[in-house]
Amino acid sequence: MPLKITQFLFALGFFTLPTKRSFHFAMAWRSSGNTNAELVANLRKSRIFTDDRIEKAMLAVDRGDFTGHLPYQDSPQGIGWNATISAPHMHAAALEGLKDHLKPGARVLDVGSGSGYLTACFARMVAPNGKVIGIEHIDQLADVSKVNIQKHHSDMFTSGLLEIIVGDGRLGHAIPGGYTAIHVGAAAETVPQPLIDQMAPGGRMLIPVGPQHGNQVFLQIDKSSNGQEITKKVIEHVIYVPLTSKSHQIGGS
Ligand code: SAH
Repeated sequence: MPLKITQFLFALGFFTLPTKRSFHFAMAWRSSGNTNAELVANLRKSRIFTDDRIEKAMLAVDRGDFTGHLPYQDSPQGIGWNATISAPHMHAAALEGLKDHLKPGARVLDVGSGSGYLTACFARMVAPNGKVIGIEHIDQLADVSKVNIQKHHSDMFTSGLLEIIVGDGRLGHAIPGGYTAIHVGAAAETVPQPLIDQMAPGGRMLIPVGPQHGNQVFLQIDKSSNGQEITKKVIEHVIYVPLTSKSHQIGGS
């Protein structure tokens, strides 16, 4: 039977099927809603995340508590001190990439916790017996994030599930047993060794790496279950504010 013209062109390689990643990339930024529930539904429809547990966490943590400016639009927003609350599709992608490491009881470090939004989502996912530590180097932002989280989730602090600390996230915050999951919300020039050291055996880190305003990639780093091997995989190209010193960030240079 003769090939139809489209089949013929396909055979010649005129058309390429979109890969899963390029499809996700095209769908990113298009998931805005008028409410938190609409935003979450659109992110799921766009398959930025696929998991019921992520949906539950994102529905429980209202992005409107974390930024007053267009909270349900799928774009990053400034939160002061040259920091941003990342775009919802980046938050959802981080939860998706870490979902198998965000089971109840898991220990999570959120470096550059900023608004506190994602830190609170992590806490919802690892509750009731997990532990989430957000580390932020701008003390005013750390204070604001605590106020934001306390609007509807003060139980996270009283139960000891979540803690926000002020410090240089490049040094991490060592805990016994290490972290099951580490998320870094700002782009590092190179992967900080203390963060690798603080991963638990079998743990996963998601970290944007690359120069400020330059070619940055979102890296997935896995530590083997015997703790001996580290594997790295590029997930996608991204644009993040830098993981840097406080003076560099506030000076804006
Ligand atoms: N994930 C957060 C914030 C993203 S912006 C959110 O979506 O709300 C990146 C954050 O990293 C900013 O809050 C910035 O102040 C913080 N940051 C940058 N360098 C840091 C460092 N060395 N240590 C700790 N936090 C840092």
